Amino acid sequence: MNTVEIIRGKRDGKILSKEEIKFLVLSYTKKQMPDYQFSAFLMASFLNGMTKEETSALTNAMLYSGKIINLNSISGAKVDKHSTGGVGDKTSLILAPIVAAAGVNVPMISGRGLGHTGGTLDKLESIPGFKTKLSLNEYKAVLKKCGAVLIGQTKEIAPADKLIYSLRDVTATVESIPLITASIMSKKLAEGIDSLVLDVKTGSGAFMKDIKDSKKLTQSLVDTAKSFNKKVIAFITDMNQPLGNYIGNWFEVYESIMVLRGEVTGDLLTLSTTLSGAMIYLGGRAASVEEGIEISNSLIKNGSAFKKFCEIIKCQGGDVKYIYHPEKYPRSKFVEFVEAGSDGYINEMDNFKVGMAALELGAGRKTLDDKIDHKAGIIFRKKIGDAVKKGDILAELHSSSDKKTEDAKKILLETLDISPDAVKPPKLIKMMIK
Ligand code: URA
Repeated sequence: MNTVEIIRGKRDGKILSKEEIKFLVLSYTKKQMPDYQFSAFLMASFLNGMTKEETSALTNAMLYSGKIINLNSISGAKVDKHSTGGVGDKTSLILAPIVAAAGVNVPMISGRGLGHTGGTLDKLESIPGFKTKLSLNEYKAVLKKCGAVLIGQTKEIAPADKLIYSLRDVTATVESIPLITASIMSKKLAEGIDSLVLDVKTGSGAFMKDIKDSKKLTQSLVDTAKSFNKKVIAFITDMNQPLGNYIGNWFEVYESIMVLRGEVTGDLLTLSTTLSGAMIYLGGRAASVEEGIEISNSLIKNGSAFKKFCEIIKCQGGDVKYIYHPEKYPRSKFVEFVEAGSDGYINEMDNFKVGMAALELGAGRKTLDDKIDHKAGIIFRKKIGDAVKKGDILAELHSSSDKKTEDAKKILLETLDISPDAVKPPKLIKMMIK
């Protein structure tokens, strides 16, 4: 095959064959093609888009650049969830034990936070001893024993994605629906799952700010999952404010513990049980998503979900001392409060800025090598639509230095606004696509 001819074809709007796409991806992954040629292909794909078939072919080529984990030795359905990420999104920590307690296996390969978004692995690593790096044999052993496992990406999984993602990052080709689809799905399909639940975030704190783009991405992910004969349910959910009230790594584990113990209601509980309900349904343990939600709520109520959470943490080497007694976890040295300047209602906010404030506090990384402060973060006392009185505490900022809390406070003061008129909170679950 002729690389230049294939790139020219894509540039001129020709639909590429499965073989042509495979040739490009494998040549690039094996370092037989220079960055500049693959960059040209990425930009042509970015500008001209891809058909469903091309997107599926790209996913397939990236998936088979590595291994598909064989989970045949583990009986029962294997279902995972993927979220496009956001601020305060800790549903993985909550739904994995719920779904495992319902008898459905959850093999979960998660990511780290970057920029304004948090990552499941960083949250889990705030638990002393918790290992997110397991060999494939250990991964299977934990899944078999506990019904759920949460690890980071291994070098065997879709190695093409790692290379291509780095190249997209420096060639302005990240924000492309087919390229995002292939990147996400190649990693998810490599986990050895039967079914997948997708949570595509929309709003100011999301990757896709606009509902139209979120719908397009969701449909592309659903079509691609189906082309690999996977059962899939997708939700488009709100990211115009943080999910739950806690942002920051240990803080998010703490809030997950409260949800799993049945001590918290609200958007985080609703979204977690909706996603777990869909997973339980896809795993064949409920007749509908609604029944899956009821099962999820009863597993929280009867203590099984929290018990399973502790079991998973122990299985992955974590110390459960702080899970049983989260109040004993070390605290940040500096705490600052953001107070309401007037009476009224919490207005819309820029959730990207909220994520950036958490980053300033030390809860995230500005570069890949930055070290995270697990204790740092924000506790929101009020959310959009809540009535407030002048002087009420809107948010608590926790960090290791007063400079960081000051900087974060400045960012929050810029975005937290109070309206004299009542404000309608955003709708949490915008739509479900099957
Ligand atoms: N997440 C991924 O894994 N890949 C993308 O391209 C975007 C988000």
